[in-house]
Amino acid sequence: MSKSSPATLAGASPVSRSVDYMAIGAHPDDIELGCGGTLLRLASLGKRGVLVDMTDASMGTRGTPEIRAKEARAAAKVLGAERVNLGLPDGRLADGWDAQKRLIDQIRLWRPKVILTHHRHEEHPDHETTARIVKQAMYKAGLAKLDVAGTPHRPGRLFSFIGMEAHEPSFCVDISPFWDAKIKAVLCYKSQFHNPAAGKFKGKTDLASPAFLEFLSVRNRFWGTRIRRRYAEAFVTGELPEVHDITALGGERFA
Ligand SMILES: [Zn+2]
Repeated sequence: MSKSSPATLAGASPVSRSVDYMAIGAHPDDIELGCGGTLLRLASLGKRGVLVDMTDASMGTRGTPEIRAKEARAAAKVLGAERVNLGLPDGRLADGWDAQKRLIDQIRLWRPKVILTHHRHEEHPDHETTARIVKQAMYKAGLAKLDVAGTPHRPGRLFSFIGMEAHEPSFCVDISPFWDAKIKAVLCYKSQFHNPAAGKFKGKTDLASPAFLEFLSVRNRFWGTRIRRRYAEAFVTGELPEVHDITALGGERFA
């Protein structure tokens, strides 16, 4: 994949690029882990979206950028979304104008209503840097006098998915009916997960631990308990969510 220009990975369509959501992750697989179930729910509601990976994961202990690109394509199909890779340097991701402009180009192209990305406080520095770049690009994409091609556009909402760190969510999304499909999307990244036959890619990482999928399940089950559902994903938002029907906010007892 080219390092110099973003590459559309999945089903690039010349039809209207005005999408409902844009999910942004530092590395291919971050989106699936952080908000895959929520994106599957949006797809079931007929919502359209695009996944943006900032880097090609070339610093990943396991796999290669080519393998990750292929895996990312397969996962995007499961999530029912388009996918773009910005080709920024993995492990050296920096919040500067180059990165911001690449993302502004995508925001102006796809014109999403909302953006989902990493929380600004995370263990992986690339995740934190991505959150900073997103904040800059999301605001600046709406500036009319900015020296960037395209019509100005500023998405209305920014939602941060929660990784392993302790953050109190603003709300949780019930992903119980979509749990199996979320795991299917996650397991598209065969090079990243436990695989005794992984050959030369069997470096040790958290994801490659046999315990990781159990850990992921426990994490999503934990958020599920917060809203009395089997599985949920949790989000932080800086602005209060606007509610129209307070009788449709869940809270029913377990069946
Ligand atoms: Zn990552």
